[in-house]
Amino acid sequence: MMRKSYGLGMLAFFCASFLAVPLAFAQAQKPVSKSYVLKAARIFDGKSDALVKPGLVVVADGKITGVGASAAIPEGAEVIDFGDATLLPGFIDAHTHLTSMYSEDYKQSALNYLQKTIAEQALDASANARVTLMAGITTVRDVGSSDFVDVGLRNAIRDHVVPGPRMLVCVHALGATGGHCDGSDGYRAGLFGHEAGPLEGVINGPEQARYAVRLDHKYGADIIKVCATGGVLSLTDDVDTPQLTQEELNAIVDEAHALRRKTAAHAHGAEGAKRAIRASIDSIEHGTFLDDEALDMMKQRGTYLVPTLMAPQGIQEQIDKGTYIPAPILAKAKAAIAAGHQTFQRALAKGVKIGLGTDAGVYEHGRNTEEFHQMVDLGMKPIDALKAGTSADANLLGLADKIGTLEAGKLADVVAVPGDPVENIRQTEHVFFVMKEGVIYKNDRGSAAH
Ligand SMILES: [Zn+2]
Repeated sequence: MMRKSYGLGMLAFFCASFLAVPLAFAQAQKPVSKSYVLKAARIFDGKSDALVKPGLVVVADGKITGVGASAAIPEGAEVIDFGDATLLPGFIDAHTHLTSMYSEDYKQSALNYLQKTIAEQALDASANARVTLMAGITTVRDVGSSDFVDVGLRNAIRDHVVPGPRMLVCVHALGATGGHCDGSDGYRAGLFGHEAGPLEGVINGPEQARYAVRLDHKYGADIIKVCATGGVLSLTDDVDTPQLTQEELNAIVDEAHALRRKTAAHAHGAEGAKRAIRASIDSIEHGTFLDDEALDMMKQRGTYLVPTLMAPQGIQEQIDKGTYIPAPILAKAKAAIAAGHQTFQRALAKGVKIGLGTDAGVYEHGRNTEEFHQMVDLGMKPIDALKAGTSADANLLGLADKIGTLEAGKLADVVAVPGDPVENIRQTEHVFFVMKEGVIYKNDRGSAAH
């Protein structure tokens, strides 16, 4: 076959095309960030124990340059006064699956996974990213995807091709053959041409564990996620069994930390969670059946619990509607729903660090901020729930120097809710203003004075 070289004619063609469609290119460029003065009756700065009145945040070049009445106002800044509202740091969801389409039809979900092209999955995911951002979530830690869709979505959002929250992605969640993170569980052996291995995140033995971390790192992982125990939505395992050995978890966390990657362990059962905690995991996700010993270990070591209360909520709603759920999954879901709330309350009483994560995808994308009232309903102080979804999560994600609080020097991720969210935590479900890195993505009040 003849190879064609691109000469001057082809160069001219590219230039002409570019000139003919400048708008298409412009859409993929970084939106202009102006200078703003955001005002509201109150402000939650992400770390204080009370709201401060009045609220004032100054933004320039995508960053916060001042907070409070004494902040210097840049010349020409646009002043937006929201009146009876509260300014808060952009919310963080430490547990999402933006590439998973929510569906109440389990058979259709399985078919979608097998039939949809990667491009369709990516386009679906971009719609999920948009509704998540519009709900006030400006950063997510996305903890499980397939076929590298998460990496592509993260990059597209970063490059302003599609709107969405800043994403930290894990590429493949790592787990054992037949475990919760073995995406081919329940399917006929050999359906995908071979038994899944480290390249798909399925590992057996510490050597493979270390290799799989290196593969995730190579292909763009910001964080490393492991499945330390069984799960609810997998067909063939028990929900609470340990699924990785101590040696495997040690290898994963050791390698991840050496590569400066934070780690998260999906863990419902106590034994698998304890192995992950001993291995110095940064957070336990779900934690449904944690016993006192596991919680004490977390308290002592500073391990975060990300309780994902919206996950059982979403499944409970499906059960209430009489949705078809395969029998093994239904039994596990009922056991998890029965145990989870009480475990959260014990963790709270012991003073375990708690982050906010929701398992979006298990319930409908965009309802993320309902996690706040779930936490408060179970006894968490509203101000502490707000900290969980801002500064605590920023710490957990290793981004405390950039996001999670409204302070000079931080990225200008700012949201606004009506009224006072400490008096009524459900105001967090009515985010009407979303700014990410100084760019306004949503302003439903539009109250502006110049
Ligand atoms: Zn999850």
